[in-house]
Amino acid sequence: MQIVRVALDVPLSTLFDYTVAKDIAVAPGQRVIVPFGRRQMTGVVMECGATTNMAPERIKPVKQVLHDSAALSAGLLDLLRFCSDYYHYPIGQATLSALPARLRSDKPVISKPVSSYRLSASGTALDLDTFPKRKVVQRRILMKLAEQPCNLAQIKSLSATAGTRLKALVAEGWVESFSLATPLTPPSASSGQAKPSDITSSHSTMPSKNDGQVAGYPTCGRGEQIAQYTFDNAHTLTGEQQQAVDVVNSARGYTCFLLHGITGSGKTEVYVHLMHHVLQRGGQILLLVPEINLTPQLELYFHSRFPGVNLVSLHSGLSEGERLHNWQQAQTGAAQIVLGTRLSVFAELPGLALIIVDEEHDSSFKQQDGLRYSARDVAIFHANQRGVPIVLGSATPSLESYHNAQSGRYRMLKLTGRALADARLPTMRRININQTVMHHGISENLLREIGQRIARKEQSLLFINRRGYAPVLMCGGCGWLSGCKHCAGKMVLHLNDKRLRCHHCGYQLHVPHACPSCGSAGLHPVGSGTQRVESVLRERFPEARILRVDRDSTRNKRAWQTMRERIHANEVDILVGTQMLAKGHDFPALTLVGALNPDGALYSSDFRAAEKLFAQLVQVAGRAGRADKPGEVIIQTAFPDHPLFRALQAHDFEGWAASQLAERKMAGFPPFMYQAMLRAEGKQEADVYTFLDRAHAAAVELRHTVEILGVVPASLPRRANHIRAQLLIQSMKRKELQQFLRNWQPLLDTLPAQKLRWSLDVDPLEF
Ligand code: ADP
Ligand code: ZN
Ligand code: ZN
Repeated sequence: MQIVRVALDVPLSTLFDYTVAKDIAVAPGQRVIVPFGRRQMTGVVMECGATTNMAPERIKPVKQVLHDSAALSAGLLDLLRFCSDYYHYPIGQATLSALPARLRSDKPVISKPVSSYRLSASGTALDLDTFPKRKVVQRRILMKLAEQPCNLAQIKSLSATAGTRLKALVAEGWVESFSLATPLTPPSASSGQAKPSDITSSHSTMPSKNDGQVAGYPTCGRGEQIAQYTFDNAHTLTGEQQQAVDVVNSARGYTCFLLHGITGSGKTEVYVHLMHHVLQRGGQILLLVPEINLTPQLELYFHSRFPGVNLVSLHSGLSEGERLHNWQQAQTGAAQIVLGTRLSVFAELPGLALIIVDEEHDSSFKQQDGLRYSARDVAIFHANQRGVPIVLGSATPSLESYHNAQSGRYRMLKLTGRALADARLPTMRRININQTVMHHGISENLLREIGQRIARKEQSLLFINRRGYAPVLMCGGCGWLSGCKHCAGKMVLHLNDKRLRCHHCGYQLHVPHACPSCGSAGLHPVGSGTQRVESVLRERFPEARILRVDRDSTRNKRAWQTMRERIHANEVDILVGTQMLAKGHDFPALTLVGALNPDGALYSSDFRAAEKLFAQLVQVAGRAGRADKPGEVIIQTAFPDHPLFRALQAHDFEGWAASQLAERKMAGFPPFMYQAMLRAEGKQEADVYTFLDRAHAAAVELRHTVEILGVVPASLPRRANHIRAQLLIQSMKRKELQQFLRNWQPLLDTLPAQKLRWSLDVDPLEF
């Protein structure tokens, strides 16, 4: 008998021992089906051994070892062990939650051979000159396939509509699909291989000969025509870009680089060249991005730069089938580029040679439930483990990363100029809202500027980080406010459907006609959200085409895509939106950005609020004047002399970061302090506080050097009828904090907590 230790999706921090008959091959990383209580479950073998501490009569045999291609590598198992350990989350749950849903089921995964496409016999015989000229994309596909068979990704890289057009060609019989398992027969006179002239684009300034596998990189076992790609070397790098590329390319083994480049400095171009360097050598690239909304756009972009490359994306918007398919493309090495949101950090890339984390400061890299990992930090660990370079890119690096780069732990790479010579940084202006005429939250000056832009057929963007019409409804008679009866927060007024809606718990009501407290009819909205801004603009500019972009207006999956197309076609005069609009979108006609209500973050209780605000404002400002037209940014504030706005106006990230770091150091905040947050919530206040008080007492009893703060209410002390409170532990040494947590966690596990939900959050971002 062999013993296997299995990770199962249960909230216990142990592995479970089972036996496997001697004659059955089993290895770590394989999935197994095992009996657990009265059920059966799918688990992952973490270790194989000969002995167990369990009594022989209690240990049960594995029901089935799943022999399919989806086994996890030793490297991935190590990564998951690290995450379980560092974030103090049960190994089984960590392991299973990292897998695509299909791999968690108890069915073996039949990996379908990747379909490829080639001309059919009639397609080969077709004279392209007789093919309808207006079917542009279909012609392009036929021409491509006349050169060589292609897989779907390669065809999709030809055009956004190539997928649909391909279907039409197959339906009409010009093109046929075949599986790669079938031997390739050259379908036409030309060979199945790409010609060298396809591989190097004509205006390339770099030696970009595809010389296949280079010693030192693992081979990925992919079909050779899949590994082909073309490089569109569209730009000559600037000196700074070239230097950054050279430094990263000369890295041997693990190094963490921080690419700090102002907006428009061409960080993406640096990524592209780094990727090309790796692709030439047959390596795989993992590119992490914060927003699922950005992936389709980036996918198209990288396809256009690397025609023919096999690029897959991984994010939560994919269907289960797509997700599994893409995961396996990465795992078999067929995918040369894996582009994904935070969950893709757990993808398997056997040929991994480079990791890039774009917008590394973005808080959406941190998962806020379950395994509360930071994908950026896990990526750094992973790069280290695999001995490959990692590049963190941002215009406004997190203070953690910036500090690490300054102290020499990371290597700083700077892009200080804009890539396009004539593109200038936007000018910034502050408007004191107490000294100007305001119209429901928009100043007269800003409205006039917008009017001028409309006259010049340029776009304006108004940024306000609040959706709905107004954040609260108030009674003029008695001062009643529209509080949520289930939460400590306020109900937001949505005038479109005349409702009050709680953004914390989703509870909603019709807008009352009279004050529920005193009966007065004098109810009025207080403050502004996107809808109110939109209606003020409609009144002032009845002719203008106004587009609101927030979570309400983009609920429909395709909505945002359609909106982007309208913006790019210059069918919009004024954009009103939340931070959704701030991220990585290039709107060429945009020349004016107004930040309407940034003040809340200046004096927030969250010590990271100012850092986030700075990053957001730099990002929205970066939307203005990207093309040949100079941009202007107007900030409406009651505190025009605040250092944050002055630094912003001077485009002085360095100065701002230095002052923030000095403050953080004085106050004992990260990055000079490492933190872990214990959170608890439950229906009864007493249960919540008793649990946290006991946890506090247990912590004190450990007599450890860490700092144990008091039990306090959460920033939203009641949500959906649950009382919420928390307890913060911190230490100036990461190791000490970890040591403490290792001793504390088993004690927490023994505390009575039947009516509670609690969690431990290491390196918390939310307070
Ligand atoms: P970032 O991501 O740093 O904000 P981008 O990568 O979006 O900047 O680049 C800004 C613009 O400059 C893009 O339109 C890009 O095509 C262009 N660009 C980047 N590098 C170069 C270069 N070396 N020469 C000319 N244009 C460039
Ligand atoms: Zn009232
Ligand atoms: Zn609520």
